[in-house]
Amino acid sequence: MAQIKITPKNIVDSAMNRPWEVACEPFRVAPHIYYVGNVWVGAFLLDCGKDGLSIIDCSVASTFYLLTESIRKLGFDPANIRNIFLSHGHGDHDGAVPYLMNLSGATVWLSREEDEQFRHNDAIDEKDKFPTMGYEPDKYYQWGEEIKLGKLTIRPVLTPGHTPGTTTFFIDDIDESGRKLTWAMHGGVGVNTMTHEYFQKTGLPESLIKTFVEDCDRLKAYHVDICTPSHPSHSDMLQRVNEEDRHDYTPFIDENKWEAFLEERKGFAMETMSKGFDWK
Ligand SMILES: [Zn+2]
Repeated sequence: MAQIKITPKNIVDSAMNRPWEVACEPFRVAPHIYYVGNVWVGAFLLDCGKDGLSIIDCSVASTFYLLTESIRKLGFDPANIRNIFLSHGHGDHDGAVPYLMNLSGATVWLSREEDEQFRHNDAIDEKDKFPTMGYEPDKYYQWGEEIKLGKLTIRPVLTPGHTPGTTTFFIDDIDESGRKLTWAMHGGVGVNTMTHEYFQKTGLPESLIKTFVEDCDRLKAYHVDICTPSHPSHSDMLQRVNEEDRHDYTPFIDENKWEAFLEERKGFAMETMSKGFDWK
């Protein structure tokens, strides 16, 4: 069936009140990684074989039915999700966590930094914006330690900026012929939370934006074959989908994309820095 293309005027309003407007047919982005998010916020299903399923982010509560529908369309059962890996604690990425936990009993992973420096900050109360039930993470990422699940080797890396505990994921995947392909998703590149006003309101350190910029350069050192964004609007991912065969992940293989993506996002942060801060 052909994908219905809707570009909502206000995508957040659509997702919260008319979630069907942000529906997105699922597609494959790497040998064992699938896009199951909507057209606003990303979610990536990891097929870990004998280790069941895992997911990176899960969007808001109102779009939860779209998420489970996408997973089922791919032939998987969302009840088999064993791990929920979160990029950060913003409600647009973790709002559906309690529902997914209830359905699957999955283990929820977050960074300790996010849990301690961000989740309990009253100035960042998003309950009105993204209504949901609460949850507590079960596990913290151990920096430098890999998580091996099925054919996937997951490397979470701390990349503060968008939030204090934003986590970026690098995953080594193996294709049918035994070739290794490295997939990456930066956990948060939005500069909306890196402004002078935001830091003042939340009490978060202004150094976060500096760290973000420095990390963009540091992260370029990682070799990445496939990079997809945490929000579709941050790159041309949806335009690259092979509409004839949504299981064809080869349009996403582009080893120059990661560096170009980081360079672009670093540019936006530098622009923000040049406006709102005394220091450069
Ligand atoms: Zn965010």
